[in-house]
Amino acid sequence: METGELSTAVPALVVAIDGPSGSGKSSVSRAVAKALGLAFLDTGATYRAATWWCLEQGIALDDTAAVADAVRAMPLVLGVDPSNPTVSVGGTDIGAAIRETAISAAVSAVATNLEVRAELGRLQRAAIDAERDPSSWSGGRGVVAEGRDITTVVAPDADVRVLLTASEEARLARRARDVHGSDDAAAVEATRDQVLRRDADDSTVVQFHVAADGVVTVDSSHLDFDQTVQVVLDVVASEVARA
Ligand code: C5P
Repeated sequence: METGELSTAVPALVVAIDGPSGSGKSSVSRAVAKALGLAFLDTGATYRAATWWCLEQGIALDDTAAVADAVRAMPLVLGVDPSNPTVSVGGTDIGAAIRETAISAAVSAVATNLEVRAELGRLQRAAIDAERDPSSWSGGRGVVAEGRDITTVVAPDADVRVLLTASEEARLARRARDVHGSDDAAAVEATRDQVLRRDADDSTVVQFHVAADGVVTVDSSHLDFDQTVQVVLDVVASEVARA
């Protein structure tokens, strides 16, 4: 028998990571994906892109039916390389535009639209499933998908499910440093809307403050970035060994 005939394909690994704003889930998930050679899916980027797309077309975000129609027609393309994740709509690179404060301030209006959630949830599941295929970016190795409802709604059957949390104080300070380059009192105050109000609005349709059954909580309040990445990698290793 040829050696090649003996080798069986390793099944794809799906790692789901949820958490509130400022928990560090995006950067931690990217680093975990890089370390494991997996694709990276930023599901928040799909909601941000939908918001950008609707505003671009002058659609009132409280017109739920019009927003849902627009999102269904959105020509969204996501690049899942964790070293260079990309977001484009109709060929326009919107990677920077969707991080603007105007989008952060408006995104919850789109993310609380249940028709939009159903549509983007389908799109996210398809992107996760695509990485099981050998012809995908990861070559069938799998994906780290992060967001608010990945462990519970989008990929409840993921191999590893993590809720990344941090105290309110730690999350505000981190986001203030990211957005304003400082965590002094004024910067923290200016960040409150983006972190606390947005999470409060988002919490009306998704639950991401308490781990669901089988989801491992990682509290990063007292961990630096590298330590948090290491703890998540340890959780992945132990969950995979347990399976
Ligand atoms: O993670 P990020 O801050 O980029 O997410 C932007 C917004 O997208 C969140 O405030 C939330 O409204 C929405 N979101 C969501 N479900 C997800 C990911 C993000 O509702 N799985």
